[in-house]
Amino acid sequence: MAEQNKQQIAVVGAGIIGICCALNLQRAGFDVTLYDENGLAQGCSKGNAGHFATEQIFPLAHPSLLKKLPGMLFNPLGPLRIDWRYIIQALPWFWLFTKNMRHKPFRANTLALKALNKRAITAYENLLNEFNLASLLTKKGSLLTFEATPLSQINAMYSSFLDQGIAVELLNAEEVKILEPNLSDTIKHALLFKDVAHSVDPHLFCLNLADKFSALGGKFCQQKITSIKQTQSTYALSNDEQTFTADKVVIAAGAWSKSLVEPFGYKVPLDTERGYHCMLASNYGLSRPVASAERSFIMTPMSQGLRVAGTVEFAGTERKMNNKRALALLPNAKAMLKNSAISLQPSSVWMGCRPSLPDSLPVIGEAPYHPNLFFAFGHQHLGLTQGAITSELITAVCLRRRAEIDLKPYCISRFSTQAACSSQLPLAQ
Ligand SMILES: Cc1cc2nc3c(=O)[nH]c(=O)nc-3n(C[C@H](O)[C@H](O)[C@H](O)COP(=O)(O)OP(=O)(O)OC[C@H]3O[C@@H](n4cnc5c(N)ncnc54)[C@H](O)[C@@H]3O)c2cc1C
Repeated sequence: MAEQNKQQIAVVGAGIIGICCALNLQRAGFDVTLYDENGLAQGCSKGNAGHFATEQIFPLAHPSLLKKLPGMLFNPLGPLRIDWRYIIQALPWFWLFTKNMRHKPFRANTLALKALNKRAITAYENLLNEFNLASLLTKKGSLLTFEATPLSQINAMYSSFLDQGIAVELLNAEEVKILEPNLSDTIKHALLFKDVAHSVDPHLFCLNLADKFSALGGKFCQQKITSIKQTQSTYALSNDEQTFTADKVVIAAGAWSKSLVEPFGYKVPLDTERGYHCMLASNYGLSRPVASAERSFIMTPMSQGLRVAGTVEFAGTERKMNNKRALALLPNAKAMLKNSAISLQPSSVWMGCRPSLPDSLPVIGEAPYHPNLFFAFGHQHLGLTQGAITSELITAVCLRRRAEIDLKPYCISRFSTQAACSSQLPLAQ
């Protein structure tokens, strides 16, 4: 992209979303400073499952979950849990979540997720190829396995993916064995998703992109931003000690974005779905991400060993992690692997705060009433997947170009009746 503009942009938050935005904006000719209180990729982007999960186009708010919710929520080590001390705070989120289970929003949210995921890998390839980083994407597909689900249900799921144009194959036990001989014999079927990829080190993936950002002249500033204020023609970003200015601001602070957005008058029901991982000492012979439909977790082979990840916990961003939830993933891994004598890497238990909105869609675009203030947060379970496409969309709107996708479904105004958002942003400033 040609250098056209030396306007200053502040990107707040150096997770995968902020780093991709910063790199793409710097590459487009802006003068970008990336702010993060904790360093580069120290939040949720550090320890995710590394799966560019473009097949995940169905929102989490599905009516079938209603029956399972009560049992799941109160099992302290189950795949979905709400901390009883957090119930009152989480209620508004769950209320909106259940409203999104209705047919009409479910369909609309599916289309909006699909629009992002369809372009997700190509957007990464555009970015990575330019910097000779194509090898950071491993493209071997991924498996969603089934041990006990009746074939009729698997077939229904298979058809729903096919109907949405997802590249998927239904495999029987023998076919699974050919692809992944080290999986346990309890696996009877699997869906093989073909247009997906994985990273063997999601943290290093972020750091590699951040390196390229620096090489292009982008600046990183390890500071917490506690307030953002609109001045006459710029924005002032400050904390107790310093104030920085910028012509444009991108808020990409993941699960912590709400407190930066709400002072501008935009309501956003952002909460966090905390997830856990632990690392096994080796890859146990797996060559691609393998998820389990019944056990609700995923195993991804990485350069440091096998990452066993998953679970959802509602307990806010402040409460300490619960190691037991991460360790509860181990029996599942054991059951899914042929070699059940697994060993855990020392101190490898991790928790990250997924930034989640009740409709499973991120907020991407310009603030309806604050020109030059942009939002890029709320990517829930798909932030790694959607990092590059989000950065392409943000770059297009910052350049006042028509975005490749209609941004209306991702506009912050969907949560309030006051703020209006057009399908496309005005092209002139
Ligand atoms: C167990 C687990 C597995 C996952 N697996 C996958 C997967 O396989 N594929 C996938 O696509 N997604 C996955 N995800 C989700 C994905 O990791 C997230 O969606 C993504 O990391 C969110 O990125 P982010 O940049 O928005 O947030 P973060 O990575 O959390 O970054 C936000 C940053 O903002 C900074 N910040 C916050 N407030 C301020 C402030 N006031 N001033 C300065 N800096 C601030 C924080 O320090 C942080 O570094 C997984 C998540 C978990 C927990």
